Amino acid sequence: MSTFRTPRRRARLALAAAITVAAALTGPVSQAAPATSTAPSPGAPGLGDPIFPLDGNGGYEVGRYTLDFDWQAPRTPFEASATIRATATQALSRFDLDFAGNTLHSVTVNGKTATTVRDGDELVITPKAALPRGKAFTVKVTYTADPTRIRHRDDAIEDYGWIPTPDGTVLYPQPDGAKMIFPSNDHPSRRAPITFHITTPAGLSAVANGKLTGRTEQADGRVKWTYDSEQPLATQLAQLAIGRFTFVDGTGPHGLPLRDVVPDDLVAPTEEYRKLTADHIAWLEERLGPYPFDRYGVLVGDTDLGVALETQSLSLVPKADLLGTRVDAERNLVHELVHQWTGDSVGIKTWSDLWLSEGHARFYERQYSQEHGGDDFETTMKTAYTSHDQWRHDYGAPAEPTEPNLFKRMRYDGSALVLFALREKVGEETFGKIERAWVTTYKGKTASTQDYVDLASKVAGEDLDGFLHPWLYGAKTPPMPNHPDWVVAPVQG
Ligand SMILES: [Zn+2]
Repeated sequence: MSTFRTPRRRARLALAAAITVAAALTGPVSQAAPATSTAPSPGAPGLGDPIFPLDGNGGYEVGRYTLDFDWQAPRTPFEASATIRATATQALSRFDLDFAGNTLHSVTVNGKTATTVRDGDELVITPKAALPRGKAFTVKVTYTADPTRIRHRDDAIEDYGWIPTPDGTVLYPQPDGAKMIFPSNDHPSRRAPITFHITTPAGLSAVANGKLTGRTEQADGRVKWTYDSEQPLATQLAQLAIGRFTFVDGTGPHGLPLRDVVPDDLVAPTEEYRKLTADHIAWLEERLGPYPFDRYGVLVGDTDLGVALETQSLSLVPKADLLGTRVDAERNLVHELVHQWTGDSVGIKTWSDLWLSEGHARFYERQYSQEHGGDDFETTMKTAYTSHDQWRHDYGAPAEPTEPNLFKRMRYDGSALVLFALREKVGEETFGKIERAWVTTYKGKTASTQDYVDLASKVAGEDLDGFLHPWLYGAKTPPMPNHPDWVVAPVQG
């Protein structure tokens, strides 16, 4: 996501100090069955992420989500269901889904009513019969969705979950708000395709990630829209929007289908900047290779929320971002577009790897901006260098975030600076090869900080672990290669 025009709020330092989760993502936390055990046992309630240890679940992998939403009106509860096709990775006596808010009605497993307990954001499901390891199974959850349940973070995320618009909604699931939309395996390392069925009142339109595969008018005048995400996606990158929309179709490089989704009265006011998307894609393809999905578009958010989000194949960009200066608009548009390569196609393995997603987005956003009337890139990096020890102190080193400061400046300019340092170290040509290798090797996969360090070392033909480790971890900012005059300001407070 990006919010560079949004004023920063104060870090919740007390919370930052309180939350220090040391668990590494080596496997599901607790309760997991030993590999040798064949007796059914409970799936782990979380994947042990260093930031959000209970997000995601152990014991199964989701193959597809099929979601039904019977939308009524903004801020109005409505009926919904989720059908989840999954495969057990251990013999399961019970398992969890991540689910928050909403009113639960029923859960079946393979068509039979299951016993359920809601425990915080965990929906604990005990099927009538244990699930054998390696076997597919189907969970169906029916519920009344509650779009008034919104959560808030005091970093760049602000509000997340269902975000209301005057006549509908957009989604802001990042970082762990998909569980407020549908029951899921809500962690960025887990991805599955999604089929969306969205029924709207006459006169409204629905859109979601991927391709429109059906639009049926019902006898009562309501309209059922079906979308297929095409590629698997992480739950935090799901998008589903409802409103009085105009669909603006276009064509990008190599015939790539472009589809902007714009509130009717914002089509003309936002056209000047939206029509730059094809040029943005061409500029990025020169640096990162082919665009990774089957289509792209901008969803213009009719909301005052000051945050854009890289929802897969359909970036959410608030209207204010498209009604200001061209430099500001292009920074946001390019930032979310970069994420389609890094963050969406190349996913992150844990939330501690977020610097890879946001650092890359900011790195290319700033380079593009320099070439198109914005700030000088090196000057912005020198400014970030000056603050880097302070940011390490306040927000954690680039690859060492804690929960309250996950989406703070260190993950943006502070992490772009790590990539700048690497480019200074290995040279522009080798850096370009590392970047191409990165988005190619891990296309459609998840990758960790160590994966990036290892790949950079391999491409550069030198062990870069000793160079990158101090940049990514620890309290002190290393010297900047080629810039011995750059100075880090002392830490205050
Ligand atoms: Zn971003």
